[in-house]
Order: sequence, then structure tokens, then C-alpha cells
Amino acid sequence: MPEIFLVFFSILILSTFSFGQANDRSSHQLSSLNGAYHSYTELESELKKLALNYPSIVRLCILGQSLENRNIYALKISNHPGRPENEPRVAFLGCHHAREWMSVEVPLQLANYLIKNYDKDERVKAIVDSSEIWIVPLVNPDGLDYSILNYRLWRKNRRLNGDGSFGVDLNRNYSFGWGADDSGSSPRPSSETYRGSQPFSEPETQAIRNLFLNVNFSATISYHSFSQSILYPWSYADLPAEKEPLFQQLAADMAQLISQVNGRIYYTGRSAASLYLTNGDFIDWVYGLFDIPAFTIELPPVDLQAGGFFNSELDIQSISAENLPAALYLLEWAISTYASQDERLKPNAKNKLEKRAGNGLKNKRMRLTGLEGRN
Ligand SMILES: [Zn+2]
Repeated sequence: MPEIFLVFFSILILSTFSFGQANDRSSHQLSSLNGAYHSYTELESELKKLALNYPSIVRLCILGQSLENRNIYALKISNHPGRPENEPRVAFLGCHHAREWMSVEVPLQLANYLIKNYDKDERVKAIVDSSEIWIVPLVNPDGLDYSILNYRLWRKNRRLNGDGSFGVDLNRNYSFGWGADDSGSSPRPSSETYRGSQPFSEPETQAIRNLFLNVNFSATISYHSFSQSILYPWSYADLPAEKEPLFQQLAADMAQLISQVNGRIYYTGRSAASLYLTNGDFIDWVYGLFDIPAFTIELPPVDLQAGGFFNSELDIQSISAENLPAALYLLEWAISTYASQDERLKPNAKNKLEKRAGNGLKNKRMRLTGLEGRN
């Protein structure tokens, strides 16, 4: 294990030295193996810098550690970030899936935008002053670095499974409807959608669970790539969520705002009806337990022919920019409706509710494509 880390760090350090100076770019260089995209180390240093330089509105939290002991970071952005206030909270997550590099960049750029425009832009100031924005850009740090250093198309975390294969699909490891069938997730460890030995078997999903059990959120977005769509529950079955009209409205409004930036049209729809069935995923768990809007945004491109997981470095700015107004819109929705939201469930009630998860798995309809290109 130490050798692996030594090799890992020396590659990063060497590549930074060999190209970093010539390029004279800001801290996330076109210099390392992943170009303008962030590795774990690059992200960590950027998050620390933000927390250090903007202490009045930023706090860096460690939610837990990955299997290989990398930190899972959350950036909390708010005025008075050091104490909890009676304000709505919205969480933005990235990179459950290792190869979806763009999904790290979009929430990170959102954080940068909010922090750096706080003093310059009244709308940003109003949002930051009246909410807590929690940004977790990298849920799967081990997987991301494996994707950078070893195998670009790596998807899962780096769990060594009993049969010698590696990886649990973190977006199949949540407890709501976990393992409801073998189509929406797989019981086979070598599968790309292996759900793990039990719900929340993985430290990465445990970290997210702990965050959500300890902080009452009003809404959340989990970024993935690719397919250019905004998806909402349910994922486990092609059935309408009780709050589907609200989800439809929010998704349509976000898609409209996104399209105004670069003209890209994001499809909106029920997760199970849009791509394929998934069970044990993040948004079903969040909605199933906490009854709040939970979206998966599948970033561009639209399909494999358009590049699949391989976005250009040049896409980082344009995709982040078009997703910004949608994120601000969801934050403003959370703020404007906060007074009328039900009292959020307390952790005890949440745990009781969690035990009932899966009760609704009746009348599910099967709808499935192959495993290829899952995102
Ligand atoms: Zn994904």
C-alpha cells in the first residue's frame, strides 16, 4: 500500500513540476494526468484554499474517509458558517461514479461562483445570507484517482470483493429499495452495478448518510454524466412519486434556465422512465426518507456518439456555466418555500422510516436496457 501511494504522489508531483511552470495556469493545472479536471489532491488543495481565504462564508468539513483513507469533503457556504442557523439547506453532490469527471467540476464551480461573487453580486449575497449551501464535489475519491491513474472508465469505488473483483457501485448502495431486484442493481461483485454486501456497506455512502441524518436539507442535486437530463424519483420502478408534479415543475424550470445559457436542451423525467431502472440509488433514498426534491442531473453530452464520459477540458466552463442558474434557482426555491415546508424529520424518525424502506416496491414494471454505458 505505501508503495502505491508513493508512486501516486510522485507521478502527480513530477507531472506538476514538468509542465506546471510552462503553462502558468492557476492552481488546477493543465499539468497533471487529468488536465484541467481535478484529481483528489488538486481538489483538496483548492477546497482548503477557499476555506482559508474566505473564512467568513466558508467552512470545510470532513464527512468521513474512503476505503483508501482519502477524505470526503463538504464545503459549507453560508454567512456565519461556523454555526447552524434556522435556514434552508441544499446539498450538491458530485462524482458517485469515478469516470464522470465533469460531475466534480460543476459543483466545485458553483462553490467558486458563490464564494467569489458574494461581495459583488446582490443575488448571490442574498442566497448565501439566507441559506446553507453544502457542496460535496467528490463522493468517490478512490475511484476518481483510479480512473485518472489506471483505467479511465472505472466506475465503482475500490472495495476488494470476496471473489477478488473490485468495487461497489456507490449509487446502488443506499438503503431505500436496496437490492429490490437484480435489474436495477446487481448481486454479482464483478458487475458494474454491484450493490455491495448490504445497504451502506461502503464508507463513502455512510459519509453521505451521516450528513443527511445530521443536517436537515430542503433539496438536493447529485451530478452525474452523461445523457444531458434532469431526473427525479422514482428510480427503482417506473411509478410516479407522490410529489411528482412539483418535481416536474422544478425540473422543467431548471432545464429552461440551462437552455438559455448555451442552447443545450436537457431532457427531464422520472429516473426509472428515462434511462433504466436503478435501485439503492441516492435520490430514491433522499426522497424516500426525507420527502424532499432530489434530482440527478446527468451532464452533457447527450450520448456515447457525442463523447460519452470524455468531455473536453473546454467543456468544463460551458457546462458549469449553464448549470449555475439551475442551482441558484433551486436554492431560491428552497429559500422562498422554507417557511411553509413541513418540519423536517429528526434523526430518530428518519431511522424508523428507513426500516420501512422498500415497502412500496409493489407493482413495479420492468424496463431495462443492457449494462453498457451506464451512467
Ligand atoms: Zn453516474
